[in-house]
Amino acid sequence: MLHGPFMLLPDRPLHPLARTPDEWSEHLASLGERRFRAQQVFRWLHGRGVLDPAQMTDLPGSLRQKLMDDGLGPTTALVELRRSFDGTRKLLVRMNDGATVESVLIPAVSGPGKPGEMPDADASTADDGESEEDEEGEEAYTHSKVRVTQCISTQVGCAMGCVFCASGVAGLKRHLGPEEIVGQVILGKNLLDEGEVLQNVVLMGMGEPLHNYDATARALRLLTHPQGVALSSRRVTVSTSGLVPEIRRLGEDFHGQIGLAVSLHATDEETRSRLMPINRKYPLHQLLQALHDYPLPPRRRITIEYTLVSGKNDSVEEAGRLASLLHNLRVKINLIPMNPIDASPLGPPDWHRIYAFQNELIRRGYSCFIRRKRGDDVAAACGQLALRGAAPKVRVHRG
Ligand code: SAH
Ligand code: SF4
Repeated sequence: MLHGPFMLLPDRPLHPLARTPDEWSEHLASLGERRFRAQQVFRWLHGRGVLDPAQMTDLPGSLRQKLMDDGLGPTTALVELRRSFDGTRKLLVRMNDGATVESVLIPAVSGPGKPGEMPDADASTADDGESEEDEEGEEAYTHSKVRVTQCISTQVGCAMGCVFCASGVAGLKRHLGPEEIVGQVILGKNLLDEGEVLQNVVLMGMGEPLHNYDATARALRLLTHPQGVALSSRRVTVSTSGLVPEIRRLGEDFHGQIGLAVSLHATDEETRSRLMPINRKYPLHQLLQALHDYPLPPRRRITIEYTLVSGKNDSVEEAGRLASLLHNLRVKINLIPMNPIDASPLGPPDWHRIYAFQNELIRRGYSCFIRRKRGDDVAAACGQLALRGAAPKVRVHRG
């Protein structure tokens, strides 16, 4: 079982930022406080992004002191912000123990891209121009705002060892706690520019979210709580390398409401095992069965991520096999030309091959987008910034 040997975060008391309103209610009652304060505290923390009890102006001073004694405060700090020419912001985020992860803020771009490229964010799966939500007219209130997707991390490094991935090459340092996962979003929201609104969160940064299932699931509940950040669950996407039991668990625990993105990257067991060692534990055929069984709501689709690695998984024949494998699954496909990493000689195919791969999938009737490289000039690929040596500080922002 993956959880045993890799459980690097020992059992520890729940951090105050990880408490649900019900848990706050219990906790405050045990401190002799009125239960209705729970909603106030939760709103300050998760709704308004204020983590310093001293700033919670409608709470009595004695309660603010108790919250400080409780250890309430920021769980994440910005150590570096790199802004790309295209508006993407790459954040290097430090935890209280000094560990760093990365997070990316990706504003939606208006106007057309190249045909077949994703019109939106590097990491976005929810906004690929075929938004089911827009059909339902739920998003009218954001029309005057720039919609931002935030990509967040769930672990420091990653245990899965995918050969093309900087986090995989680095290995797992530790899991993040739910307060650190949510803390990235609170930090990110506080850094938004005037006129921007956070609309999507994708768990596609460092780490394998489903290898850190409990912390991830709690973070999902907090982020979608109506009194907190209040993200629509369909606007939150978990990306996984294919941990089959946890995909099933996620489907059951959230009734299929959380967006699911699956990193496939190959069409046969041997190639996939070579690129992604996790395939030896949960082979492709088991993974595909779990996708068939995922309780997908009507009009929703699973995102299939396929990183194109030159000479390894990028032939037109493979595109054809991918089309056959995905037969009868409701999916959209994101092709990601591999971002070169320092630790590997592997790289992306040339554009001719990328378009040929895409065209084959489109010819076979699939929605297939090439994930546009956003923020390339600020090392916005998985794990690249956090694993690079120290870079110049831009500013420090607590929260
Ligand atoms: N662990 C999860 C989520 C984080 S990785 C997962 O693997 O799905 C998010 C996506 O980035 C995955 O599809 C992953 O395969 C891809 N990725 C990682 N390194 C990459 C690189 N160097 N170039 C292109 N895509 C990469
Ligand atoms: Fe981990 Fe995802 Fe990177 Fe694979 S691609 S090593 S699962 S972060």
